[in-house]
Amino acid sequence: MTATPENEVPPVNAFTIDVEDGISIAMRDRFGKRIAQTQRVLTSTRKILDLLARHDTRATFFVLGQVGEAFPELVREIQVAGHEIGVHGHDHHVFHKLDRQQAREELVRAKSVLEDLTGEKMRGHRAPCFSIDESTSWVLDLLLELGFEYDSSVMPCRGVGYGWPGQSLDIGPMDTPERRQIMQVPLSVTRIGGREVPALGGSYFRLLPLGLSRGIFKRIQAQRPVIMYLHPYELDPEPYPDFYLRELARAPLKTRIRMRSFWLRRKSLMKRYERLLSEFRFGRIDQLISETGNA
Ligand SMILES: [Zn+2]
Repeated sequence: MTATPENEVPPVNAFTIDVEDGISIAMRDRFGKRIAQTQRVLTSTRKILDLLARHDTRATFFVLGQVGEAFPELVREIQVAGHEIGVHGHDHHVFHKLDRQQAREELVRAKSVLEDLTGEKMRGHRAPCFSIDESTSWVLDLLLELGFEYDSSVMPCRGVGYGWPGQSLDIGPMDTPERRQIMQVPLSVTRIGGREVPALGGSYFRLLPLGLSRGIFKRIQAQRPVIMYLHPYELDPEPYPDFYLRELARAPLKTRIRMRSFWLRRKSLMKRYERLLSEFRFGRIDQLISETGNA
């Protein structure tokens, strides 16, 4: 690891949150049942707002258009607290399942909901399930067409159902299929056991020992800003409602195991974030882009 020289302010890393209701997405995507966004997204996102306020830290919230429609007060709370708001799609459809027209409708709807609520232009985008890769790279041109200035969807590793290995690990302009460029803010990955993994978000961050996560953080930060991601439901330790548990009990074993895995170490996750926010400096993505001189 390269030490930060004395008197030099450590680089700003980005703290990002994909604001979505885990219950309604799981009900639709796993069990084929559509339900409205639940209050859980409200309570869990407020926990994140409190966490960030305790550490006097600003972050970037990529908000689902549906969350904005169901809970407009939440979008205003995020904005009033000084955070950046970006778009996370409207109905949380991965781009692999959409054609260009459907993707456009999804993005336009979410963008207009969030712009109406905030009175601000939406500059940033994060795809549901990091679903921008080689096969969906056309979305990058669509984003430029719709006026987005940056994207933060590329996970430069090979994951299960996501990831675009071989892409740059650094923030910077990225070529699109139509020979334009969009600012890309890739998620942080690191090499563990011989393969690149998104160690500072999702299940990896929940399950790895904190000492190891801190070491990985320092290692990446010595080279480039760390881009972390979090979902509000990861900080929700309360059991899901009975209607969800009934569906889960009927699901195939593989689905049951996968869905249960999302609950491991949820209760201790807040403490881990408290520790990181005390130790490292975080900011909004738009701030990070201008500080790294890439704007
Ligand atoms: Zn999402």
